[in-house]
Parts: sequence; C-alpha cells; structure tokens
Amino acid sequence: MDGHQKKVVVIGGGFAGVHLIQQLAKDNRFFITLVDRNNYNFFPPLIYQVSAGFLEPSNISYPFRKLYHHKKNINFRMAEFIKVIPEQNKVVLSTGELSYDYLVFATGTQSNFFGIENVQKKAVPMKTINDAIELRNYLLQTIERATITTDQEERKKLLTIVVTGAGPSGVEISGILAEMKNGIYKKDYPELIGQPGAIYLIDSNAKVLAPMSQKSQDYTYNALQELGIKVLLNKQVKDYVDGSVVLADGEKIPTDTLIWTAGVIATELPGLPKESITRGRRVMVDAYNKVQGLDNVYALGDSCIMTTDPAFPNGHPQLAQPAIQQGQNLAKNLRNIADNKPLKPFKYWDKGTMAIIGKTKAVADIGKLHFKGIIAALIWGFIHIWSLINYRNKVKTFFNWAFVWFTRDVGMRFIFRPGRKEL
Ligand SMILES: Cc1cc2nc3c(=O)[nH]c(=O)nc-3n(C[C@H](O)[C@H](O)[C@H](O)COP(=O)(O)OP(=O)(O)OC[C@H]3O[C@@H](n4cnc5c(N)ncnc54)[C@H](O)[C@@H]3O)c2cc1C
Repeated sequence: MDGHQKKVVVIGGGFAGVHLIQQLAKDNRFFITLVDRNNYNFFPPLIYQVSAGFLEPSNISYPFRKLYHHKKNINFRMAEFIKVIPEQNKVVLSTGELSYDYLVFATGTQSNFFGIENVQKKAVPMKTINDAIELRNYLLQTIERATITTDQEERKKLLTIVVTGAGPSGVEISGILAEMKNGIYKKDYPELIGQPGAIYLIDSNAKVLAPMSQKSQDYTYNALQELGIKVLLNKQVKDYVDGSVVLADGEKIPTDTLIWTAGVIATELPGLPKESITRGRRVMVDAYNKVQGLDNVYALGDSCIMTTDPAFPNGHPQLAQPAIQQGQNLAKNLRNIADNKPLKPFKYWDKGTMAIIGKTKAVADIGKLHFKGIIAALIWGFIHIWSLINYRNKVKTFFNWAFVWFTRDVGMRFIFRPGRKEL
C-alpha cells in the first residue's frame, strides 16, 4: 500500500461486500482490506441443497484469498468484528485493530429466534455453511435412529420434520425433503417404507411466499400439498418443549427435528450511534448508503435500511439483488468522491423473485410476468447457477446439480463429524 491510497475497510464478504470490492479494486487509488469471520464467500440461496445433501459445501463457497490473489490493492483479514470507534477512524477486531479512511459494513443478518429460548437451543437454523452441514448430519442421523427403534411413537417422532417459516428457504427445504422422502429414501431405507411421519411447514402469515404474487402463492401452496407437506398457515410456533413443537393455539407436534427459517435480524454492530439502529437492528443509511450521523462509515445490503428510494419507502427487501446493487453503487460513489464528481443516489432495479418447490415445480415473478412449473424451474436453475461468483464453481455446481436433477440421486448423504482440536 502507498501513502496516497485511501484505506477502505470492508466488514463482511457476502453479496454486498464482494460486489463493492470487485468494482472498487479496479481503481488503484484505493487499498481495500476485507474482514470476514470465514475465509470464504458462500452463496446462501443454495444452502438448502447442501443441507439436503444435493450439493457439496465447496460447490457454493470460494476462498477469499484465492478470489483476490491477483489483486495487489486487496488484503484479506480473517477476524470477527468487535466494535468501531468512529472518533478515531478505527475498528477493533478479534485479531487486532485496523484504521480506515472509509469503513463499510456488509455484515448481513443472523437467525432470529424471537427470544424463544428453547427454540434457540434446540432448533436447527439454515443460514450458514456450518448450519447446512450440521442439518445434513442431523437429518441423516435421525433417520438412522428411526431405522433402529422398535417403539412406533418414537419412530413417528423421528420421521416427523417441522419447518418454520414459509418464505423461499422454508418452501425450498420442505420441498426437497418431501421429494427425497417420496423417492430416494424408499431405496436407501426400505425398512421405513409405509412408516408414519410427516413434514410440516408452519407460518404465522396467511400465505406462503408472502412477498410474491397471488398466482405464485396459490401455485406453491398446491404444489406443497401435492408433495404431501402439511402446510399450517396463521399458526405461530411458541415453544419447543419435551420433544414437541408447541403452537400458540396449544396444538403440539411431537418431533425431533425443528428447522428454523422463520426470521432474521441484522448482525450487531457495536460502536455505531444508537439513533442509527432501527427496525430489525438494521442501520439507517442515506441515499448513498452513508450511516446516519457519521461521515465516512457506510452500511450495505441486509445490514442496512434506506428509505429514500421512492419505490421502496419502507426499505428494500433483504435479498441478494439490493445488496449487490448497493455494493456496486457505493463503489461508483467512492470513486466519484475521489474525482470530485456528484454522487449517485441508490435506486433499486427489481429483477424479480423466484422460489423452487421441487424438480419440476417452481415459481418466478419477473416484472408483470409470472412463470410456474418446469419453465420457472429452468429459469431458477439458470439464474442461480449463473450467479455463483466464479467459473469453477459454476461448472462444477452445474454438473452436480444437473446430475441430481435428472437422477434425483443425492450423492452427498454422508455423516461427517469433524473433531475439535485446540491449535
Ligand atoms: C438460506 C437462505 C436462502 C436465501 N435465498 C435467497 C434467494 O433465493 N434469493 C435472494 O435474493 N436472496 C436469498 N437469500 C437472502 C440473501 O442471501 C441475502 O439477502 C444476502 O446474502 C445479503 O447480502 P449481504 O452482503 O448483505 O449479507 P451476507 O451475504 O449475509 O454477507 C454477510 C457477510 O458478513 C460476514 N460477517 C457477519 N458478521 C460478521 C462479523 N461480526 N465479523 C466478521 N464478519 C462478519 C459473514 O461471514 C458474511 O460473509 C437467502 C438467504 C438465506 C439465509
């Protein structure tokens, strides 16, 4: 780094962080340090496929150091963000401190258990690669236990899965598990054919895929029912006690597996002005993603809320596209500042939303157009595989995915248990 370069510290290498860096690193007037708790970027939309054993973790992840090894003005630091001291232009990390000219938070969200202690302790979330590996192990271990028990009630409980949250993640994981139950599990676990057990999908909303069109919601609801999933709407999970999920109306569902996709809350960012932290712990930013009350600190993507975009007065949806586009816009604006040019306020270009329910069942709302069935499944596949951030992942993932799509034979049904060793 030379003394003339502006020091940009980016906390979080998800969609927003990586797209900001990709654009900004083209300009050698900036020296960028990326800080992330993981040493890899990953692609959350395909987490559920890792959880179900359809894809390997490496298909949807890529090491930061490999991603940036050819760029001289990017440095990577694996660390946990602890706090920012804005008066000193300094961040404190788990591995030391860094000073900055510009600081960018792109730290995303974490699972929100809404303060339900038992759920937080016992439910399996589906947010990170670690969650996905844990969920895969857990599901496979549970089904092995079901093959051994001679107690009919116990077996039913082991073969019952409750998924909370009927957004895209909840719909996708319950759909893929139902297809596995109806297909591959019959081959691999013949002793379980005809045994009781069910997949429940529960949401406190009146609809599945709440932000999508009515047509998509109706199609998805019917497709889930056809797959044998019990969809319970207008129902709230209140607790998880003595091996039963307890609903607000008192109903109890005995199960050993509660998969939690019901909500997220932004990652905590100690040191930011208290007034800038708002709904869902998101940081209030202006039209240029600058944090309210600070001059050289920015927040992007899921971690922030912006109410200045005329089409989105309540903030943007917490999705990949707003994060990507905000990262790209901020890169342009930091370069505009260096060039003394006017700044460009952020405007979100909504490219549409989609969800996949099964092999040939998906929905996509793109502008005013609505797609469903196999056409939507193909659009979904193409866009998701294409969006993976690098060539190697794209090709490898495409072949794995295409193989599994045609054969429905899930290759990654392994229970790996890495031991922990102090280094
Ligand atoms: C299971 C799942 C499925 C999804 N499916 C879709 C989909 O189909 N389509 C869609 O548009 N969106 C989907 N989303 C939402 C989408 O992934 C997010 O909106 C998007 O990732 C937000 O990008 P971001 O850059 O703001 O945050 P993220 O991508 O979450 O990145 C945050 C980064 O910050 C790092 N980090 C966090 N806290 C710290 C800390 N304290 N210290 C250091 N590093 C930290 C994390 O390791 C991570 O790398 C899905 C999300 C999930 C969880």
